[in-house]
Amino acid sequence: MSTAPHSFQPSSTSLNLATWVPTTTAEGPGQRFALWVQGCAIRCEQCCNPEMFGFVPKQVHPVDEVLGWVQEAKDKFGIEGITCLGGEPFSQPAALASLAESVQALGLSVMVFSGHTLEELNGRNDQDTRRLLAAIDILVDGPYQVSLHTNKRRWIGSTNQRVHFLSDRYDPEDPAWKQPNTVEIHFDGKEILVAGFPEGPWAEKLKHWNRWSKRMKRPNEERK
Ligand code: SF4
Repeated sequence: MSTAPHSFQPSSTSLNLATWVPTTTAEGPGQRFALWVQGCAIRCEQCCNPEMFGFVPKQVHPVDEVLGWVQEAKDKFGIEGITCLGGEPFSQPAALASLAESVQALGLSVMVFSGHTLEELNGRNDQDTRRLLAAIDILVDGPYQVSLHTNKRRWIGSTNQRVHFLSDRYDPEDPAWKQPNTVEIHFDGKEILVAGFPEGPWAEKLKHWNRWSKRMKRPNEERK
């Protein structure tokens, strides 16, 4: 792992997103709205989302607008919650805390993947980090370690990563946690998004798509 300097500081009222998908079962329990934030200084070896490392403005949207998308997904697909991953969600703790609090107020759950451990996050003297932790039902913590890669733990990439049930909303003994990982390919007519964990013969091709964009742009669109 190496670190990278922050060159973009998002506001506390807007989220800097890489991409999002209104419903998926590949990023947590049940149907979930998944959003990938832009920017991660941890830079794990063979992270499948290196295009999300940069702290540059990608798709910056007010928290209220993102909440509207979540409400729409709830009405349309009956999602049970949201999953935040990236990128590093705790690099945008203020805006994400506001979103997570509002999502829970809708009766939905919040799951977050962080490359930081829970101990590191608890050690931060930062109110927004505490607010975000307080609004999370499931935290998957720790960096992806390629030497500890596994496809045997549902939704989780390496064996060092831990699942913390920060509320009593989910049952740690649910057999769903013991099922293998899955992958989904979303195509909306012009863009492709890969959710979950590519494995097997298609892994390299899917990783290639991941590398170049979670949400593929048309050829004449400029890529940041
Ligand atoms: S913390 Fe997550 S997004 Fe950041 S480099 Fe590691 S796997 Fe990738």
